[in-house]
Amino acid sequence: MIELSHIEKRFGDAVILKDISLSFPEGSVTALVGPSGGGKSTLLRCINLLEIPSAGTVQIGDAKFDFSGGKKASWQDIQAIRRQTGMVFQNFQLFPHRSAIENVMESLLTVLKWRREKARERAMELLTKVGMAHKADAWPATLSGGQQQRVAIARALAPSPRVLLCDEPTSALDPELSAEVVEVLGKLASEGTTMVMATHDLRLASRIANHVVFLEAGQIVETGNAEAIFTRPAHERTRQFVSSIN
Ligand code: ATP
Ligand code: MG
Repeated sequence: MIELSHIEKRFGDAVILKDISLSFPEGSVTALVGPSGGGKSTLLRCINLLEIPSAGTVQIGDAKFDFSGGKKASWQDIQAIRRQTGMVFQNFQLFPHRSAIENVMESLLTVLKWRREKARERAMELLTKVGMAHKADAWPATLSGGQQQRVAIARALAPSPRVLLCDEPTSALDPELSAEVVEVLGKLASEGTTMVMATHDLRLASRIANHVVFLEAGQIVETGNAEAIFTRPAHERTRQFVSSIN
């Protein structure tokens, strides 16, 4: 279970996230949707502590930290939470000077200190899962965007995180390449991978997510079952947003 309680995030005087409480059960797939600037990326980054919340509690499994009252997390506290997450970015962010398989092996070797052979085996398993085993030795620059993103997904999953966080995983891709990535994410979802993804792509959200959070101006407007939010949103603002995209 991943739990956010009363998360607030400020940048200077600007309050970017206001009193966000959400829980993400094991095996659930949650889409964060809403207008640009609403705080989707910031919220994802508060889950893995790439951004430090100004207040509120983040809990992933047994690791928990309450940032309220200006409490500072130690590097160990941050690592305890961060290590249970894997993140996929819009622009893939593969290490350019490492082959596909070396990208996937990286955290296993450097963070988890696995033996090379074992790391290679695990990486190959993951590359197979995302349909990229045939490109294991390719350099990122020689791969299509969809292929790079599939390697990035394998890399994020390598240390067996409790949750896969995806920030606009398909928005740098044309529709055909985006479909490859959606297929891989759909497969992971059906295998029970817990995911939280920020996306503008409501088709991706409705295909994969079972839960939707509509965020606007740093606040949760509506949350619920994906099917319900897309077909009969309770809130007028959500209705406008969904109909503007369809
Ligand atoms: P998009 O759909 O465009 O990706 P988003 O919902 O992901 O938007 P965020 O990127 O989380 O939105 O941004 C939320 C707000 O926080 C915006 O007003 C943004 O300008 C502000 N913001 C984000 N990061 C910072 C930062 N490091 N310093 C100051 N303001 C920031
Ligand atoms: Mg964003």
